[in-house]
Amino acid sequence: MEAVKLTYPDGERRLTALDEVSLTVAAGELAAVVGPSGSGKSTLLAVAATLLRPDSGRVVVAGADTAEMSAGERTALRRERIGIVFQQPNLLPSLTAVEQLLVVEHLRGGNVRAARARAAGLLESVGLDAGRRRRRPHELSGGERQRVNIARALFAGPSVLLVDEPTSALDHERGARIVDLLAEVTRTHGTATVLVTHDRGLLGRADRVLSMRDGRLD
Ligand code: ADP
Repeated sequence: MEAVKLTYPDGERRLTALDEVSLTVAAGELAAVVGPSGSGKSTLLAVAATLLRPDSGRVVVAGADTAEMSAGERTALRRERIGIVFQQPNLLPSLTAVEQLLVVEHLRGGNVRAARARAAGLLESVGLDAGRRRRRPHELSGGERQRVNIARALFAGPSVLLVDEPTSALDHERGARIVDLLAEVTRTHGTATVLVTHDRGLLGRADRVLSMRDGRLD
């Protein structure tokens, strides 16, 4: 993104959440963004995800300028090119790990058999063996749920992976392993990954660390 400005209404005035923010992340690069609460990190991810439109500036995803797209085109871009991993895995309680990945394929009316094999392979690659892949969320640990979440975000083969505080529900050791996994999938899947975290102990795994303060990034 280039010179992105985003404001929220704030009484009579407007609050500047992103103040001329520029950030380019290469394919296969893991960029970490740190900063205090309220500094604009979540807003940055929402703009990168095309969920919020900036007041000014450009958001380019996989070479495409999102400002020129219709709402439908942006939705398609989000579905096909952008993987999002939120803090809480928000998995569907009644579905097994494999099924979590297949929901989207079902909705799209795709080839479910091929998708099932791909889902299994992806879950294997993030560390869930055949037994764990048949479990429902409540039968998995917090770390395993986050792994399913990451696999689900990768399922469509995104160019961009946006990750918001993925370790907040985990202890340090499990959190570190999740960030190791993110570094690994960034390399193997060639995603441009942005990781928002407040856990400075995990930053050693990032290719680049940026700090956010009062809507500014440096
Ligand atoms: P962070 O993720 O770093 O905690 P946020 O992006 O959530 O920061 O927030 C940046 C600033 O924008 C804060 O001052 C916050 O209060 C404000 N903000 C965030 N979301 C909204 C909203 N929907 N409406 C108004 N102000 C918001």
